[in-house]
Order: sequence, then C-alpha cells, then structure tokens
Amino acid sequence: MQEIPLNQVDTSKYDVIIAGGGAGGLLTALALSAEGKQVLVLEKADRLGGVWHSYWVDGYRLDQGLHVITRVTRGAFARFLRTYLSPPPEFVLHEGWYFRVYDKVGTIPSSIGETLRWPLTGVRGRLGLARIGVKIKTMKLDEMKKYKDITFQEFMEANGATNQVMLDVMQSAIYMAAGVPITEASAYEALRTLKDTDKESSKLGSIKRLIFGSGEYDEGYVIGGMEELIKRVIETINGDYVLNAPVDQINEQDGRVISCSVAGMTLFHNCVVSNIPLWAMPKIVKSSNQETIDFFKKWSNLRPTHGITLWLGLNKTVIGDRKNRVLVHPGPNRWIVSISSFDPSCAPKGKELVAIAMMTIPGKSKEEMVEIMKGNGFEEYYPGILDHIEMEHAQMSYATRAALIPGQTDLDRPGPRTPIKGFYIVGTDTAGSGVGLQQAAQSADGVVHALLEDTEINRIL
Ligand SMILES: Cc1cc2nc3c(=O)[nH]c(=O)nc-3n(C[C@H](O)[C@H](O)[C@H](O)COP(=O)(O)OP(=O)(O)OC[C@H]3O[C@@H](n4cnc5c(N)ncnc54)[C@H](O)[C@@H]3O)c2cc1C
Repeated sequence: MQEIPLNQVDTSKYDVIIAGGGAGGLLTALALSAEGKQVLVLEKADRLGGVWHSYWVDGYRLDQGLHVITRVTRGAFARFLRTYLSPPPEFVLHEGWYFRVYDKVGTIPSSIGETLRWPLTGVRGRLGLARIGVKIKTMKLDEMKKYKDITFQEFMEANGATNQVMLDVMQSAIYMAAGVPITEASAYEALRTLKDTDKESSKLGSIKRLIFGSGEYDEGYVIGGMEELIKRVIETINGDYVLNAPVDQINEQDGRVISCSVAGMTLFHNCVVSNIPLWAMPKIVKSSNQETIDFFKKWSNLRPTHGITLWLGLNKTVIGDRKNRVLVHPGPNRWIVSISSFDPSCAPKGKELVAIAMMTIPGKSKEEMVEIMKGNGFEEYYPGILDHIEMEHAQMSYATRAALIPGQTDLDRPGPRTPIKGFYIVGTDTAGSGVGLQQAAQSADGVVHALLEDTEINRIL
C-alpha cells in the first residue's frame, strides 16, 4: 500500500474504502487484498495503526500498550498474520502467569492436582477453587452465555466461591482481560477468559485437561516487535492510503452508502468500512432514516477501557525471563512483563525493557498512578530494580473501545453490518470475541465474510 495525497484519489480504482487505519481497518484491508481487492484507507492521524503502534524513546522501542499477544497458536490475530504474511511472523511464547500474593507466588492452576497444591491459599481456599475450577472448565459455551447479564462477582457469590485470595487473583486476571474489576465484568466474558475458549470444546476434552492439566500457555510476543509487524501488514495490502484525512461525513441515500467526505472533498463509493470508534458515529453518519439514526446513537454509548503503561528502561537485565507477572497485593491489577526478554531488539544490548500496566484509577493523576505502579510490592519482588532505571515513559490511552461488561459482551455488539447497505463497521467495539488485537482480528474476519457474501449476492442479483 502506498501513501498518496487526498487530491490524487480516484475512487473508481478501489473495491472498498476503509475509514480509519487502526488494527481493525488494516486487518480488514489485509484480508481483502488476499481476495484480490484494492482498498483505499483514509486515516485521520499522521500515521497508520491507531493504538496499535510503536515508537522509540532513548534507544528503547516502546509499544502503545503492553502487547503481549493472546492466543498466539489458536487466535484470530495470529491466524490472520500466518495466513496473509509470507513468511509468517515468528512468535515467542511466554512462560506462564505468575501471581504474587504478598510474598508468595503461584500460577493459575490448570489441573485438579495443581489446584490442591496451590500455594496462595490454605486448604479451604484450595477446595473452593477446585470446586469452582471444575465448574468453569467443564462448562459449555451455551451455558456461559446464560451469564452474560450478570457480573463475575455475582456469579462467584451465587456459587459460594468467596475465598478472598481466590477472588483477588481472579480480580487481577479479569482486569487484564475485561478492563474492569470483577464487580463490573460480564460473567460470560470472564468465564470464557478463564476457560480460555472462543469456541466449544467437548466436555470430555475439558475433563481430561482438568485432570492432567493443559500445560498450554499460548501468549507471547513477536520477533521484530509491533513496529515490524505493522510495517509488513501495510506493505502487503493492495491499494493506497491517505494520512491526515479525517472522514467527517458518511452519506446515505435510499438506504445505501453513497459517499464519504474528507476535508471538504466528497469521495463517491458504494462500499465503505468504518474503523472509526462508534462513539463518534452519530455526528459522522448522515441519514434521514430513523432506524439508522437510532442504531448509531445506541451504540455510541459503549463504554471503553482505559489503561496506563509505564515503560522502564533498565541499565542492566534485572528480570530477564518471559514470565507474565501480576502483583495481587496490596492492590490487584498491576501487570509486569520484560518485553526485551521476548525480543532483545527493543532495548540496547545488555539492557532491559520492562512494562508495568494497569487499568487507570478514576480520580488519580498520571503522576500518582506512576508512583502506584512503582510501588505496590514491585521493589519487594525485585529488590533494587528501581535503582537501575535510565528511561521512564508513561502512556495513557483507551485500551479497547468497549469494556467487557453486561450489555456490551461480544453477544451484544453491533456489526459487521449496519442498517445502511454497503456500509460496515470494524474495530474492538463491534462484534468480536477475545481481547485487544484478537478482538480487532475477529471483527475484521466478520466484516470480510459479510462483505464478500454481500458482494456475491449483489452480483447474482
Ligand atoms: C494501553 C494498551 C494496552 C494494550 N495491550 C494489549 C495487549 O497486551 N494485547 C493485545 O492484544 N492488545 C492490546 N491492546 C489493544 C489493542 O492495541 C487495541 O485493541 C487495538 O489496536 C484497537 O484496534 P481498533 O481497530 O479497534 O481501534 P483503533 O486503534 O482505535 O483504530 C481506529 C483508527 O481510526 C482512526 N480514526 C478515528 N476517527 C477517524 C476519522 N473520523 N476519520 C479517519 N480515521 C479516523 C484512528 O486515528 C485510528 O487509526 C492494548 C492497547 C492499549 C492502548
């Protein structure tokens, strides 16, 4: 894909216009390219990628956010990249989740045996965890769907699972996945995360994994980092992109999309995919159809998640492994990962790049949150680590555009189709399961299927 100026756009050259070049828009463009389609991406910012982005600070390559990629072996995001990039990117798996509860460290148990030996609680806590663990791991997806309108906390209470340490560990795990505490996260989404499933698995398979353990941790990072990945995705797409091109109107006539407007210029086309956050759409979509107006108004109220990531460049390697660590006490929701242990190219030789992430705390300033992240047991876990900091950089941003709370689970979301024919929506606030980049890939998958299906039908008609 090449950059072109707005005044050189000839829309007759493209099969699809994509408004917004974030992960959702770019992955849609990537899959459409493989179908032989030409795309035009209109991006408001001065670069592509949206919150999927890397940049350099004092010799360290930082990602926007933490970017440990979930479901590297089974998920939609990695599947997209393996299918459409040649050679496929190389992922490095992490070595597991380690939860620190005061001075004790334990993983999430994956079998009954591990649960009964769990070092983080006493015997009663372990038995409680084993009971709820069996229930979750053997639960079918359809049963989980029944819990989409209650919170995870309500689910746990209804099942008598109230051991505080267990709840705190779950709190920390769910925070990362849903972007909200267990008092707000949808039980359905939390259960899927804990079972680590997007699709149905047999009850027998679940029971086998429960007894023997799955030993499967398929999260990791990519060699060359996000920067290289985004570059390769852009290179592989067929078509053009325009930067500094905010789409300010998407126009409908007789129920069909007819054009979009950018900086006073109208671009006519009958197939548009929008990666623009749904919260901005009521102002952008121009329609006299009440159904269309109501649709965009309703979905503009989705609640996003807000994260803060503190990047620390250390003048020597202190952590040096690929474990995902979560500090559970004194306050849950602090996640630590040594990114340079996955991909050494993101830090100067002999040095280490560490990220600490958490969801933002309402009412606290950025500076206060940075102090909280550097405290909360971090120095006790790694004595002396704070003395080795030579680069410090904090980022705040929405992490996904819809928190996984009741009313906005993947079962509730809109998309990929809209009431306007030929107009589709993509992004982490539209249909899509999983978290972050998985979600963006799932939604891109949905759009591409819908688009190809509708094009087929149109041709037949
Ligand atoms: C702090 C943080 C931590 C994260 N951690 C992880 C992680 O560990 N693992 C993981 O998988 N994911 C993670 N993510 C999430 C992942 O990066 C995002 O979910 C994903 O990149 C969002 O993609 P999107 O397509 O939904 O949206 P966006 O990135 O929001 O893309 C929207 C695009 O549309 C453009 N746009 C907006 N309005 C207009 C307009 N009017 N006209 C034209 N263009 C417009 C924007 O500029 C942007 O480029 C993290 C994100 C953050 C910020």
